[in-house]
Amino acid sequence: MPRKARLVEPKVRRRKTAAADPLVEAPTPVAAFTAEEMKYVEKHPDQRFVARSLTPPGVETCFGRKRTITILCGKCDAPRVIATSDAHHCRYCVACKSEAKKAARKAKNSDVTPAG
Ligand SMILES: [Zn+2]
Repeated sequence: MPRKARLVEPKVRRRKTAAADPLVEAPTPVAAFTAEEMKYVEKHPDQRFVARSLTPPGVETCFGRKRTITILCGKCDAPRVIATSDAHHCRYCVACKSEAKKAARKAKNSDVTPAG
């Protein structure tokens, strides 16, 4: 029994697309950083800083006289205020950091082979 080829022409429908405003569509985050913040952005290119979050020293009292800046967690995007001097090693929010620490410890412990 010969197979009857069914030719179904696809209905071509012109979709109405909302006119996208390129000015509203594409914000340039880099331009939002202050000149002072750009120093940190350039120094730590893998860090995700929040624009205009740099504070003068002493504003965040729990950091003493350190300047602080807000980063976005590399895992969950949660914002975290860190001292600028910690920018080179603080990559995650507190929750993700402790989780990563736990995982690292677990991995280290499982590596240990019993002596004997
Ligand atoms: Zn996180």
